Amino acid sequence: MNIYQKLSAITADLQTVAKNLTVQQTGSSSYKAVSERDIIDAVKPLEAKYGVYSYPARRSILESNMLESESTYNGNTKKKTTFMTRIETVYRFVNIDAPEEFIETTTFAEGIDPQDKGSGKAMTYADKYALMKAYKISTGDDPDQTASEETLYRKPLTFCCANCGADIKGYKTSKGTVSAEEHIAKSVNRFGKKLCAKCYKEAVAAEREEPEDLRAAAIDLLNERAD
Ligand SMILES: [Zn+2]
Repeated sequence: MNIYQKLSAITADLQTVAKNLTVQQTGSSSYKAVSERDIIDAVKPLEAKYGVYSYPARRSILESNMLESESTYNGNTKKKTTFMTRIETVYRFVNIDAPEEFIETTTFAEGIDPQDKGSGKAMTYADKYALMKAYKISTGDDPDQTASEETLYRKPLTFCCANCGADIKGYKTSKGTVSAEEHIAKSVNRFGKKLCAKCYKEAVAAEREEPEDLRAAAIDLLNERAD
């Protein structure tokens, strides 16, 4: 069998398997979810039977962001940071009997996580959908029919250095951590503008040099008068 015949045979065999997939029902909500494990468990024995090996051949991160959202509960506003990763995965199905023969399918996935598991979630999601799309597995889990939880995300405010345009970030000193906001307050207080840590340092150094320049200028002036 060539790779197309193999994938077609697996697709046909899977139609019966798909119906028996465990579907989770959360409370009264009609949301149905089929886990990546369910899909892999269904696909694996059939791929082994027909001699197909599938794996994510290439991945690339399309977007990686730190997002902030605010939620108000009992009048208290809470800020939450969330990591969002959007990836592209090229999933390859190889004919084990003729390894130069393969089919690739591309899936896009997003992972959102309050810790740093955003990319892991995105990969799991991408692999699951690659298998589902390639083998035409229908689980009744239609993302278009399921309302996503609505959270308003926004990118955190970025602060640009008035001098070089770089993002102003927090940093650590021997006395502790200085947040971007604290650094900006310090910079505005001293120089009347937002400077990044590097430009701030240079500005402070320039200020120190200034008296010397003035002294040099005064000496020049005295010399001129002496002449
Ligand atoms: Zn700067």
